[in-house]
Amino acid sequence: MVKLRSGAKNTLGLLCYNIGMDLNLPVESLKGVGPKTAEVLKKYGIRTVRDFFYNLPRDYENFEAPTSISEIRPGKVVIRGRIDKITTRRARKRNLSVTEGVISDATGSIKVVWFNQSYRVRQFVPEKEYYFTGSYELKNGRYSLMSPSAALVSDVDFQSGLNPVYVAHGSLKSHDFQRLIGLSRDKFALIPDLLPTVKAGTRKDALFFAHFPNSMKSAGGARDYLAYEELFELILAAKLNKRENEKLRAAPIQFKLDYIKDFLAKLPFELTKAQKRAAWEIFQDIEKETPMNRLLQGDVGSGKTMVAAMASFMAVLSGKQVALLAPTAILATQHYEKLKQLLEPFKITVALLTGATKDKKNLKENILNGKISFVVGTHALLTDDTEFSDLGLVIIDEQHRFGVEQRQKLALKSPKGLAPHLLSMTATPIPRSLQLTVFGDLDVSILDELPKGRKPIKTEIIREIDLKERLYPKILETVAAKNQVYWVCRAIDDDPRTETISVKKRSEKLKALFPKLKISFLHGRMKQNEKDEIMEQFAKGLIDVLVSTTVIEVGVDVPNASLMIIEDAENYGLAQIHQLRGRVGRGSTASFCYLLTSGDRRPSRRLLELEKSADGFYLAEVDLKLRGPGEIYGALQHGALDLRIASLSDTKLISRARKDVNVFLQDSENMLKYKELMQGISKYQQITTLN
Ligand code: ADP
Ligand code: MG
Repeated sequence: MVKLRSGAKNTLGLLCYNIGMDLNLPVESLKGVGPKTAEVLKKYGIRTVRDFFYNLPRDYENFEAPTSISEIRPGKVVIRGRIDKITTRRARKRNLSVTEGVISDATGSIKVVWFNQSYRVRQFVPEKEYYFTGSYELKNGRYSLMSPSAALVSDVDFQSGLNPVYVAHGSLKSHDFQRLIGLSRDKFALIPDLLPTVKAGTRKDALFFAHFPNSMKSAGGARDYLAYEELFELILAAKLNKRENEKLRAAPIQFKLDYIKDFLAKLPFELTKAQKRAAWEIFQDIEKETPMNRLLQGDVGSGKTMVAAMASFMAVLSGKQVALLAPTAILATQHYEKLKQLLEPFKITVALLTGATKDKKNLKENILNGKISFVVGTHALLTDDTEFSDLGLVIIDEQHRFGVEQRQKLALKSPKGLAPHLLSMTATPIPRSLQLTVFGDLDVSILDELPKGRKPIKTEIIREIDLKERLYPKILETVAAKNQVYWVCRAIDDDPRTETISVKKRSEKLKALFPKLKISFLHGRMKQNEKDEIMEQFAKGLIDVLVSTTVIEVGVDVPNASLMIIEDAENYGLAQIHQLRGRVGRGSTASFCYLLTSGDRRPSRRLLELEKSADGFYLAEVDLKLRGPGEIYGALQHGALDLRIASLSDTKLISRARKDVNVFLQDSENMLKYKELMQGISKYQQITTLN
């Protein structure tokens, strides 16, 4: 392995420039990254030199023209000054430490306040000057600089006056990333090109100026290229996956109108328009000889299972077997019970296969000999000894909970040479702008309508100090009406550093407060069978209040649960809270969701939007926007999807990338020539492939 020396002007240097450096080298090969640092980096997914260069600043602080204190106005400001009189204390309200100090420059002094950042007391040297970036706000009748970031003046790169801000990863704070990236500054020239569609050297320049901008303009240009690059990769991955899928063959499943009419006549309700549309799209797909590869998206409670049942019904009538995969045993059991009830009147045998299934051997024999036409199960379905006689349709519930390999394993259980039709279901709404980008090449059906008669969940933000007055009576009222309560906590155990109230502490507190109620807890460190048991008891109504971590997120249906309390709500993402609160509001009683906040900060826009709207698609769009502006490189997380860019709404860039990908694909040589690109797009497989 040749270690590249920086700035080498000999032939070796030139040669290396042309070939470019190997970005797959481990991150330890970089200057300043020892084993300890590497360990932290790896924990946060930064394993290679490439990962390191692509760990982009979240934002830039502009130190070019700091405001003098005498000129200060409310709003976002940058101050250059010294700090003293810094002290920290615990606020009267629990859960909060307040650190205060005084910042002075030649023109005056202001007060500065940080919440829950008591380490600030030890951070500053009184003689030294710092840049403070934060918001100057009125608080309790007094103006202060609220929770500013701070950078040592002598550390700031004065060529630009722009200070990149990196997301802290464990013990590595923003300034550590600045220092490390600075040590590799001369390596950027060696970064090879990635895409054929841009001028040579664009990539290395973009990465360089993202980390070392000389103006906001150069930082913006860098961002544009990197966003384009990511879009190019995403779209290319989606198109290639579609191509692969089109090469496969499947057994067609015929649509039988009379049977569907009969099926619908037996239902106690009418399908929603959205359900009819989705079912119709699916029926058309499965009649083809190309396997269906469709994503059924719908908010919690929109009735996806019903649509899946109709598709399964058609498959079984065509003599095919159906497998439905669910992420947990309890969910599989619920699906099984519902589907059995729906399909048994038509003499269709439905079976359940989970880790707890008693006579697995016998069951598997009957799957293999075709006596069982529909099997619902968990990961237990994926074992090699679960074989089918003629598997024609695979349904995956909460598809983002499964890896590509797991999903493929099931798809491979079809008869030789044929692929099953595949229906994936998810309750995590994908913003429409993202659909246009990635899913433009995928088939998506959307249930954007809830069944009639559902009462919307009333959501309200409540401060923790109002708990006693506002919430406790509500809990008693709910239980008295024979309904049930979910109480969601952030952590399993107490953490003295954050003072987060854990599942254990909260359930103890509640037990002491309400000795007559049945209170249990649930969390991810419990054994699977313990979790299943608790969840089952809750589903049967044997538990009044279930204190839990987010493990309850997955689609378990307990229609009787009508109250949810989410502790430390500010710590969750918008989409996640929306998912969580979907656990209530599944029955006919009016349901409530309370978002608890501690401290005295105003609730975030995120929470306010959740209070206002119950529409998952609208909220997904808001989520994307909220992450967008302000953050130059926002991270968008959707299930396994983790995109750096926040530019999915940039339609111009999307259409340019689309066009360029099409040109790229016209020359099949390109796939051999652009090795790094082709390797790189595999990371998008999880989102762009459904099979
Ligand atoms: P999802 O999986 O989309 O969260 P489910 O399929 O579990 O939703 O449906 C939630 C509940 O709504 C189930 O009890 C189901 O029987 C019921 N349901 C489904 N479709 C309708 C409909 N069109 N009208 C009334 N209730 C429905
Ligand atoms: Mg469901």
